[in-house]
Amino acid sequence: MHKAQQGICCPGCPHRAAYVTVKDAVGRGRGKVFCGDAGCPAVGEVHPAATTCPGGMARLLPRYAQAIPGKDEARPKVCVHFIRDEQLVAACGDDGISAPLDHLASEGEIVLPCILASSKGYLDNEGIKRLAELAEQAGAADVTVMDPFDTRGCQDIIRDMAEVPGVHAIIFASPCALLQTAHPAEPAEVDHYSCVGCQRCVQITGCPALSFQPPSAVIDADACSGCDLCADYCRTHVILSPCARMTPEERRAARYAAVRG
Ligand code: SF4
Ligand code: SF4
Repeated sequence: MHKAQQGICCPGCPHRAAYVTVKDAVGRGRGKVFCGDAGCPAVGEVHPAATTCPGGMARLLPRYAQAIPGKDEARPKVCVHFIRDEQLVAACGDDGISAPLDHLASEGEIVLPCILASSKGYLDNEGIKRLAELAEQAGAADVTVMDPFDTRGCQDIIRDMAEVPGVHAIIFASPCALLQTAHPAEPAEVDHYSCVGCQRCVQITGCPALSFQPPSAVIDADACSGCDLCADYCRTHVILSPCARMTPEERRAARYAAVRG
C-alpha cells in the first residue's frame, strides 16, 4: 500500500492502542485473523484494524466469513474482531454481528470481539454495562473490561483468553483522543543519545507524533498526547515519559478527566 493511502491515527488514539495490545498478546502467523471496524472517519478503511465507519461492518463480514470457512482444518484458530461501541449497539439484533459469533462459538473457535468503548455515550459505567449486555447477547461467554493503554496488564489476560475455545469479549474503555480537549499528560521525549534507531516504536504504534529522523526516533511535542504507548514498546527504554511514575489507574483517570463538554 502506498504511504499516502495509509490511515493516520490521532496521537493517543485508544483504538490503535487496543489493536497494538491485542496483536502483541495474540501474536501473528497462521490461524490468527484480525478484522473489524475501528469506526473512525479519521482512520478510514486503511486502518490496520479496520474498515470504514459507515457501513464498514457490512463490507467486512463477507471477508470475515471467507476467512473462517467453518469446517475445514485451515480455518483460523484465533479471530480478533474489533467493533466500535455505537456500531455494536446499531448492529445487535440483526444478524450482522450475532450470526458469525454464534457460528464460531458452536464450532469451538477462539473468538475475541474487542469492543472499542470510546464515544461520548460510553464513557461511564452505564454505557459500559450496556455494551457488556449486548456482547453477551451476541454470543460472548464472558466480558472483560480493559484499559487499552495498560498494555502489560491487558496482555497477560488476553494471552490466557486466547487459549480457551469460545467467544470472550473485551471492552476496551478509554475516551477517543478527539474528546480529550485538555491534554491529559505531558509529551514523551526520546533520549536521542541512547536511541539505537531500531524504529520499533514507529513501526508498531504508527503514531503521527512519532517519526524516525536518522539516527533516532523523534517525538513532536506539540502533537504528542503523552499516552506512552511508544514507550511501552521501546526495548531499550529510551523514551522518557513525565508520567512514568503514575499508576495505570492514575493515567486512566487523567484521560477521562481531560474529556470536557
Ligand atoms: S524503539 Fe526506542 S530505540 Fe528503537 S527507535 Fe524507538 S526510541 Fe529508538
Ligand atoms: S506517547 Fe508516543 S505513542 Fe503516545 S502520542 Fe506521544 S509519541 Fe505518540
